[in-house]
Amino acid sequence: MAEILGRLLTDLGERSDYDAASQCSRCGYCEQACPTYVATGRESQSPRGRSQLVRLILEGKLSDPKAAEEALSTCLLCGACTTACYAKVAVPDLVLEGRRRARGDAHWLVRAASGLLVSRPAVLRLLLRAGFLLKRLGVSRLARPLLRLIGLPVLAAMDEHVEEAPLRLLDDRLPALRRAGEGDAWRYFAACGPRYLFPRVGAATWRALTHLRGKGRFMENRCCGLLAHNYGDVARARELAKLNIERAEATGDAPVVGDCSSCVAFLKSYPQLFLAPSEAPWRARAEKFSARVRDVVEAYGEDSPALPLAAAQGRVVYHDSCRALNGQGLKEEPRRAVRAAAGADYREMPESGVCCGGAGAFEFVHGELSDDILRRKVGNAASVQARTLVTSSTSCLIQLARGLKMYYPDARVLHISEYVAAAIEDRHGA
Ligand code: SF4
Ligand code: SF4
Repeated sequence: MAEILGRLLTDLGERSDYDAASQCSRCGYCEQACPTYVATGRESQSPRGRSQLVRLILEGKLSDPKAAEEALSTCLLCGACTTACYAKVAVPDLVLEGRRRARGDAHWLVRAASGLLVSRPAVLRLLLRAGFLLKRLGVSRLARPLLRLIGLPVLAAMDEHVEEAPLRLLDDRLPALRRAGEGDAWRYFAACGPRYLFPRVGAATWRALTHLRGKGRFMENRCCGLLAHNYGDVARARELAKLNIERAEATGDAPVVGDCSSCVAFLKSYPQLFLAPSEAPWRARAEKFSARVRDVVEAYGEDSPALPLAAAQGRVVYHDSCRALNGQGLKEEPRRAVRAAAGADYREMPESGVCCGGAGAFEFVHGELSDDILRRKVGNAASVQARTLVTSSTSCLIQLARGLKMYYPDARVLHISEYVAAAIEDRHGA
C-alpha cells in the first residue's frame, strides 16, 4: 500500500484529506475551467466528479474501481479548478490522495528512476547519455514496438514525443559557466528538465540571472521529488526534499531560483510533506526553505525594468505553465518580463492560462485526450498569428514543441529564460 499524506495544506489552512474533499459543495462553478471536462463533457472527468469520487474512496464506498481509475488518472493536476473555486477545493492534491489510496505502490519504473535520482545521479546521467545517443542513431525508434509489447508503452510514447537528445547535459556545461565567477546573489536550483533534457535552458537561466542580479551559485541540488510524489512514492519525495533542504541550508540564505515552474511549485509545497507530528522539526525547516524559493518567472518579473527589447521576430505570446499560474499564483510577473522584452510584438493569447495537455507524463499516457487539449491550445496561438510562444515548464516545452510541429510549424516555443537571455545578449553581447 502506498503511503498517503492524510493531511493537506489547503488555501483555507491545514485539513484532513476527508475534510478537504468535503469542502466541495458540488456547485459546478469550476466545470468550464477544467480542460478534461471541456474536452470530454463527462462529469466523471470534471473537478466536481473527481472530488466526490475521492470522498467516496475515503468513506470506503467506492463501487467501481475501474471507472475511478480512469477519472483520477485523466486529471491533469493543472489546478485550474482550485483557482476558479470560491472554496478553493484542493482538487489536484485530493486526486493524488485518491490515486495513492486506490492504486497502491508506485510503478517499478518510477521507483527505479527516483531511486537513481536519490542515490546514483551519476548512473542516471550515464543512462540518459546512452539513451540520447541511441535516439540520435535512430535505434530507440526501432525499439518502440518492443517497448509496447513488454508493457512499457509510456517509454515508447516518450521517445516519440520528446525531440531533444542532448549529449552534453547541463552538468557538462556548468564548469564553463562557473569559470566566469560565482557569487552570493542567488542559488540556482537546476530542475531535472533543464538539467537533463534542455541544458540550453539551464545555461540561459544562469546567464540571465547573472546579468540581471549579479553572480550566484549552483545549489548542487537533487531532483525536487515531484516525479516520485505524483506517481505514488511519497517516502522517496520526502527523502529528496530533505536532501534539498539540507543542501540549501548549507549554502547560506540567498534566494533559491528554479527554472521549471512545476518543480518550483513543488519546492514551495515541501511543508505539506512534513505534517505528521514526528516530522515537526522538518516542517519548520521546509517552511524556511520554501520561503526562499523563487520561480525564474518571478525573478524576471521583478527585474523587468532592466530588460532590453528583443530583436523583432514577429508576434510573441505567453503560455502560462499551470504550476506557475494556479500552483503559485504567478500571472502578472511573467507577463511583465515578456512584455518588456517583446514590446509592441506582445499579444495576449486567448485561453493562455489553460493547460496545454502536457502535464508531466500525462501526454505519454493519455495521448488522445492530451492531443485534443493540445490542438485547442495551438489553435489559440494561431488565432493571434503567434511566432514565438514563451513558457516556463519542461512539460509545456515538450508538448508545445510537438503541437507546433504538427499543427502550426510557423511558430516556435521558448523557455522564458531563453527569451530573456537572448534579449539581453542581443543588446549587450553574449
Ligand atoms: S470544486 Fe469548488 S467550484 Fe467545483 S463544484 Fe466543488 S465547490 Fe464548486
Ligand atoms: S486539476 Fe485540472 S484536469 Fe484536474 S479536475 Fe482540476 S481543472 Fe480538471
